[in-house]
Amino acid sequence: MTSSEYQQSRNDNMGICRACGYEQSGCEPDARGYECEECGQKAVYGTEELLMMGKLEVDPPLDNPHDETEGFRREMIAEQQANIKFRKILEADHGQVWDTDQLREEFEVIGFMAPFVAVKRISDGVKGSMMFQHSPRFYYNWVGGDY
Ligand SMILES: [Zn+2]
Repeated sequence: MTSSEYQQSRNDNMGICRACGYEQSGCEPDARGYECEECGQKAVYGTEELLMMGKLEVDPPLDNPHDETEGFRREMIAEQQANIKFRKILEADHGQVWDTDQLREEFEVIGFMAPFVAVKRISDGVKGSMMFQHSPRFYYNWVGGDY
């Protein structure tokens, strides 16, 4: 079984009967001794359990059958969603909002004077200021031409 097949099988809650080899659905990854729908023996084990028992070969081998990056990836997704939500709130209060990449496309940063940033609009050279906030970094409240 390849690592991706293993992950798939684990995510799909597939178990394998050690008596007849039948692949059974609805088995938690750590299931042990479930009754086989095919042969009736209590020999169905979850894929993760089989791997732990050394009864399943995965190629290439997994360093850790529990995906260590999973929690980290979940956190990143949660953070992105929080940022999107936060941006919507800023937009509702201040109109247009720029993230760092968008700011660089439209403006040249002249200087930071927290919570303000002095910028020059690249398209027409108009200087102005914006407010910014850290983490997530967003720029908003553009006021131009009063420098
Ligand atoms: Zn069986």
